[in-house]
Amino acid sequence: RGEKAALLKAKLLDAGVKYCVGAYVDIHGVPKGKFVPISHFEHFAEGSELYTGYALDGLGQRPNDDEIASLPDLDGCVILPWNREVAWFPADNTFKGEPYEISTRVALKKQIAKAAEMGFGMNLGIECELFVVKQGDDGGLEIPNDDDNLVKSCYDVKRFMDRYTWIDKVSTTINDLGWDLYSLDHEDANSQFEFDFQYSDALTMCDRYIFFRLMAKQYAAEEGLLATFMPKPFADKTGSGAHFNMSLYDLESGRNLFKRAPEDDPRGLGLSELGYQFVAGILKHGPALCAAFAPTVNSYKRLVRKGLMSYYSWAPVFNSYGKNNRTNSVRVPMAGGRCESRNADAACNPYLAATLALAAGLEGIREGLDPGPAQEMNLYELSPQELAARGISELPRTLDEAVAAFAADPFVTEVLGQGLRDEFINYKSEEWRQYHQRVSQWEIDTYARLF
Ligand code: GLU
Ligand code: MG
Ligand code: MG
Repeated sequence: RGEKAALLKAKLLDAGVKYCVGAYVDIHGVPKGKFVPISHFEHFAEGSELYTGYALDGLGQRPNDDEIASLPDLDGCVILPWNREVAWFPADNTFKGEPYEISTRVALKKQIAKAAEMGFGMNLGIECELFVVKQGDDGGLEIPNDDDNLVKSCYDVKRFMDRYTWIDKVSTTINDLGWDLYSLDHEDANSQFEFDFQYSDALTMCDRYIFFRLMAKQYAAEEGLLATFMPKPFADKTGSGAHFNMSLYDLESGRNLFKRAPEDDPRGLGLSELGYQFVAGILKHGPALCAAFAPTVNSYKRLVRKGLMSYYSWAPVFNSYGKNNRTNSVRVPMAGGRCESRNADAACNPYLAATLALAAGLEGIREGLDPGPAQEMNLYELSPQELAARGISELPRTLDEAVAAFAADPFVTEVLGQGLRDEFINYKSEEWRQYHQRVSQWEIDTYARLF
């Protein structure tokens, strides 16, 4: 490590880097870290930076506890394209020299090691959806150039071009970093965009997603705009997902273990038996996983059939799977060979969500579970009786329900350990309480004169 650090330091000095930051995330997936002058790089690389965990959300510390440290991942170095004097590293937390168990990146690494014991690696592709808006002085969100002459904005070329400067900065950075952008579009709602770059191993993809959110915000701020990953900023528009596209590969050969020719697959989805077992594990723990995939109060305003819109949301409300059918929470896209968890939203902590999804999938494999029949109907339109007849259950409808499911599933404690599990529940219960105990404008409007 010392030698590697010395080489890297020389390179960074050459590139004109003045500061380094080892960014770990809090329970929300928000990056945190101290900035260290490059002259102290050797210490930084050894994990010199100490933090009072109590000052952070969800890192499990009391004010009288010893500090946690951050250990930068030297392989993940990125020189910030918008400020080339700063080098960014994804980081893990350690405590007294050991991996700190209440760190979501540490939890994911632990789960990846479990998969490796079974001979598997996990590939992950996260689709990046977000809004780019203006924030008024009153804090309200406004859509720039909101000309309502178009009902549907999806794939709209003019609206895409309206944000070209920002889009090009984001795209160029993605490619400069070697992430290989392959598609970008104007999403369903006015001022909503999507960027898709190549999948990679799960840890790398999570690191990239954290960086992507920071970068998108930075470039939007340069235009006087706000890039928001809030899952449902507008009640009458679609929300922002962060669909998790997952597959396992053979650690030795690199071969995708979920792939099977649709004609060789009796169910025709182009998924191997291993793939179906993985999906079955995801569904078995679907309600608990939902708390990690959709972790905010606002997330559940996205997971609706239509909500206040006149058309479907494209977001799931059922714990079910199927072929290329976006009304399921788990979809097997047309080409097969992977499964997509669609309830994952743009505000998730990707490390936490990937940890639980991988663990659930591995359990499905270990126990040889079967996900039952694939659902091919428009589930949004099925009656409660039809849903019951097919054995389809709903995902949690609020953060409160999701956290209750998370708390009730012993699998969560096994996977995350008591500390991280309890931290998540404490934070999310309080978030729910803060929201739920307020009186909203809707209540005033509806009840003040009625009663
Ligand atoms: N924006 C939708 C969501 O909230 C997804 C649309 C799509 O399928 O790309 O998940
Ligand atoms: Mg999309
Ligand atoms: Mg998708």
